[in-house]
Amino acid sequence: MTSRTTAEWQAADARHFLHPFTDFKDLAKKGSRIIKKAENIYLWDSEGHKILDAMSGLWCVNMGYGQQPLIDAAAQQMKELPFYNAFFQTSTTPAIELAEVLAEVAPPHFQHVFFTSSGSEGNDTVVRMVRRYWDVLGQPNRQVIIGRINGYHGSTMAGASLGGMSGMHAQGGLPIPDITHIDQPHWYELGGSQSRDEFGITAARWLEDKILAVGPDRVAAFIGEPVQGAGGVIVPPATYWPEIQRICDKYGILLVSDEVICGFGRTGNWFGCETMGSKPDLMTFAKGVTSGYIPLGGVMVGERIAKVLIEQGGEFNHGFTYSGHPTACAVALANIRLMREQDVVRKVREELGPHLAQRFAELAKHPLVGEVQTCGMMGAVQLVKDKATRKAFDSALEVGMVCRTHCFNNGLIMRAVGDRMIVAPPLVMTVAQIDEMADLIQKVLDLTLAELN
Ligand code: PLP
Repeated sequence: MTSRTTAEWQAADARHFLHPFTDFKDLAKKGSRIIKKAENIYLWDSEGHKILDAMSGLWCVNMGYGQQPLIDAAAQQMKELPFYNAFFQTSTTPAIELAEVLAEVAPPHFQHVFFTSSGSEGNDTVVRMVRRYWDVLGQPNRQVIIGRINGYHGSTMAGASLGGMSGMHAQGGLPIPDITHIDQPHWYELGGSQSRDEFGITAARWLEDKILAVGPDRVAAFIGEPVQGAGGVIVPPATYWPEIQRICDKYGILLVSDEVICGFGRTGNWFGCETMGSKPDLMTFAKGVTSGYIPLGGVMVGERIAKVLIEQGGEFNHGFTYSGHPTACAVALANIRLMREQDVVRKVREELGPHLAQRFAELAKHPLVGEVQTCGMMGAVQLVKDKATRKAFDSALEVGMVCRTHCFNNGLIMRAVGDRMIVAPPLVMTVAQIDEMADLIQKVLDLTLAELN
């Protein structure tokens, strides 16, 4: 690798590299922050600044940086068999073994997996598989999939359509046909005078209203993230998912849990649906399956769908060059082995998650903070103008971005979703590192308040 100054890297970056979800012109003006190396939960930029990565990369580096077993697994598999495909009735041993291990860690009705390279491809697979399922059952009219406003399911045509991000729909003529949305279970914004639990039922019943509006015999599936991640770590009321499950069961509609963020321990169970009390028919996963060391995603297929597709489905005309990529699968196997050896999921549930919740509860006392929410190792801090009335800041003030800039300048990576500051730190954090992160958040909140006054 060439040795260049930060300014030289930034100039080359601006000349050639179009970044995801980025205003290219604006970035060229400001210059990227160049990340050079990482260890455990810390990053270092090209100027030598040390940064606590409270977002685990992009919700993925769950086991932290520098994990030798993952590095070794990739190197060894690359030497032995870097790639072979799973088309034409061939298979590879890491893919077979990973499918077995996934069937062990997932809820017991998941015994099959379809591999992809990303969460978006996983959700595209969901659309095709759900529609195929109903076709095979002789109900081809069941095409409609219901997602949620402010849900995020990726950036491919189908993924972005399932998601409910208006900015994404505005570009490229989305959503694709037969995908529709209901509002999100965001009590702080939409709950009004209802208690959280009452609102959870209200929000779930929007699904029933939508099913009746579309026509129950046309609805194929409902998809949601157990906890909305990119939408702002919106933890639904405890009543929400059980009611969603009841409604799906009542109308025979498939339930899809997008576990791309919540899967692999993030919420204190292997999958977020276990924390939220639902029993989905499909689960999309990616990110944490390899701790982000190498791209891998997929769909866990529950017995209801697997039985139909296997016994009656014939050829499923769908797949990717890298479905079951042996090197990616070898890394995932090493990652899951490490998670089990270190008892990470239990630690998140019993030690780390509760400590994060306690520290966030203290942050709730800050004058800028309207509410905090946590679930396992994810958390949100909602910044508001008026705590008592839940009144938001004028969006032109971009208070979230002000706070994010203070984070950057103080060695902390947090994400701003509007005025909601969010974290999803590595699951290997120590209690002392959670304290270090919470102290930094306290500091950036103080700096943000001082700047606003
Ligand atoms: N689903 C959820 C819940 C996500 O958060 C993401 C990415 O953040 C995706 C799907 C898309 O995954 P990818 O970026 O790997 O395509």
